[in-house]
Amino acid sequence: MNKTAVKLKQTTCPYCGVGCGIDVKVDGQALTQVTGSSEHPANYGRLCVKGSSVLETNDVSGRLLQPMIGDSQVSWDEAINHVASGFNKVIEEFGPQAVAFYVSGQLLTEDYYVANKLMKGYIGSANIDTNSRLCMSSAVAGYKRAFGSDTVPCNYEDLEDTDLLVLTGSNAAWTHPVLFQRMERAKLLNPDMKVVVIDPRQSATTELADLHIAIKPGSDVALFNGLLNYLHQHDCIDQNYVNSFTEGFETALANSQQWTIERVAEYCDLPLEQVTTYYQWFAKSPTAITFYCMGVNQSSQGTDKCNAIINCHLATGKVGKKGSGPFSITGQPNAMGGREVGGLANMLAAHMDIGNPQHREYVQTFWRSPRIPEQVGSKAVDMFAKVKSGEIKAIWIMATNPVVSLPNGNEVAQALKDCPLVVVSDCNENTDTSEWANVRLPATGWSEKNGTVTNSERRISRQRGIMPPSGQAKHDWQIICDVAKAMGFASGFKFGHPAEIFDEHARLSGYENNGSRDFDITGLAGLSEAEYDKLRPIQWPVNRENPNGCARMFENGRFYTKSGKAQFITTEAKAPVQQTCKDYPFVCNSGRVRDQWHTMTRTGKAAKLTAHVSEAFVAIHPADAEKLNLVDGQIAQLTSKFGRALLRVQLDAGQRKGDVFVPMHWNKQFASQANINRLFAPVVDPISGQPELKHAAVAIEAY
Ligand code: SF4
Repeated sequence: MNKTAVKLKQTTCPYCGVGCGIDVKVDGQALTQVTGSSEHPANYGRLCVKGSSVLETNDVSGRLLQPMIGDSQVSWDEAINHVASGFNKVIEEFGPQAVAFYVSGQLLTEDYYVANKLMKGYIGSANIDTNSRLCMSSAVAGYKRAFGSDTVPCNYEDLEDTDLLVLTGSNAAWTHPVLFQRMERAKLLNPDMKVVVIDPRQSATTELADLHIAIKPGSDVALFNGLLNYLHQHDCIDQNYVNSFTEGFETALANSQQWTIERVAEYCDLPLEQVTTYYQWFAKSPTAITFYCMGVNQSSQGTDKCNAIINCHLATGKVGKKGSGPFSITGQPNAMGGREVGGLANMLAAHMDIGNPQHREYVQTFWRSPRIPEQVGSKAVDMFAKVKSGEIKAIWIMATNPVVSLPNGNEVAQALKDCPLVVVSDCNENTDTSEWANVRLPATGWSEKNGTVTNSERRISRQRGIMPPSGQAKHDWQIICDVAKAMGFASGFKFGHPAEIFDEHARLSGYENNGSRDFDITGLAGLSEAEYDKLRPIQWPVNRENPNGCARMFENGRFYTKSGKAQFITTEAKAPVQQTCKDYPFVCNSGRVRDQWHTMTRTGKAAKLTAHVSEAFVAIHPADAEKLNLVDGQIAQLTSKFGRALLRVQLDAGQRKGDVFVPMHWNKQFASQANINRLFAPVVDPISGQPELKHAAVAIEAY
């Protein structure tokens, strides 16, 4: 009897930014079981239902298995040459600004690294941006303004070791379930720990709250400026910390003094007692974490919101200290890894900046590349506007579905329809975006991909290749390198294994660094393939000073600004851009449901996951529904200036009157009429470029 050994392989969950470790049982050619890795510090054995159902979504149904030009199957050589010559032709005729890559937090760091290297170092444009622009770019900009670097200072253990946990703009119970389980346990073990949830609506997360602040959408800056003012009025500023380690306090304070508790309560539409209680708790708690996510970031003043939060932490010295800090949580499994390799249109690799001539020289010299762009590229929303206007004539979209996820999706679809060359590399055969592709390239998926990801606490983990590629699928990094070579850039892309790419990435992080940049993983350079394969989860920086990684940043009070001091940023409260009016009287908020992920291309395949919420809905307060003659369960039509959606009415007394909530997942395969992001205006934060996906003005009527 031919008996194959059962093996256990450790990898990482493909979904959210918690970055849980998963142990996979491999029986011959089949993956038979997944469990949470007991040793992985992100989850210590826990998994949420999405992670534990990952095998149900991992079959070949719906997979793109061979390269396609139009409706014809072609060889890889034909496809690669077609893409390379198409891009070269556009570049020759219209210059490098006429081409673009739109990439994804689903890519592994190694994929991201070569995509960024090709666009910035060889094509010579910075037109590479990522769906992470929709996720955490405001948090990046906020950190950079305050700390001089895109550095998440805290770690998951800090969440369990704090006196006050403030969750703002986050339904962590559904979006980051394993982290939320850790918060629940911390509260159970320490009933004195206070939990405040700032969210316009009631959610599964507010059930843990000692205080739920149902803030008026978009008014967050006033709330945090009011806190700064309160801390000063009540003598709760850590003057020693402020004097020693920060700059700009007096200006930020002067600006915040208009925000009395009474004015905040009125502006944010909150009971005075709620605001007072929150401020008192923050003032008297020796430690505090403010945990923030899309509700803060996806705003036309997302960056200011982040800095208004950070100001309060700096003023009380609640940064770089156990159980304290402003903690941005990423949505995607590798949004952080993308930031590390410069996968945003305004960044260079290894957390260097396009705007810094010395950084440009470092990167170009290290890469020995023919060119490096001097100007930042087009950020996501702007990129698709340029596709629409014809300024960008060739775009390569990797592992993402912007027709569903970007605002004003109807225009995005139209832009792709009219674009002369649209390349989509994806593991899925048929998405709302690939419908408009001239060329479709089959990419490997989870369990086949092999590389690294970085989670929300700066922890680099291996996502291991356990199964061979399905059909003719190739790894994204291989496809990009093949196209680069066919474009005539062979010298920079001779990689044969992701370990070689990771090594280059690690060495670049230390190049001309000398402690001047936060991202430094030179301690991980030079790994053999076997060592890379065995790499255990580790938090960057990993260098001579931190050979075993670094759990918490800024403990020494030294920041990466020119002066070495953290910066207070003066922020003004501004209303969201798209305001309600007579024709569009409701504020529409969008977000996730517990068991779905992004545009459902993967999670939509698992019956267990679709059973939780089987249909898209619009949650509306019963009093609003009554005025509109809507009853629970009927279909309603939502319209905005940008589009229309049909959704089932769900009466929800946890909604603020005048606000509705709609989940953002549904794609054309499940219910194209339920896609909500198409109703949002293509409005962005002027600093981060992140779209305002939490505030659309809509009308609602029975359908
Ligand atoms: Fe995966 Fe996130 Fe769930 Fe962990 S919490 S199992 S990373 S989806």
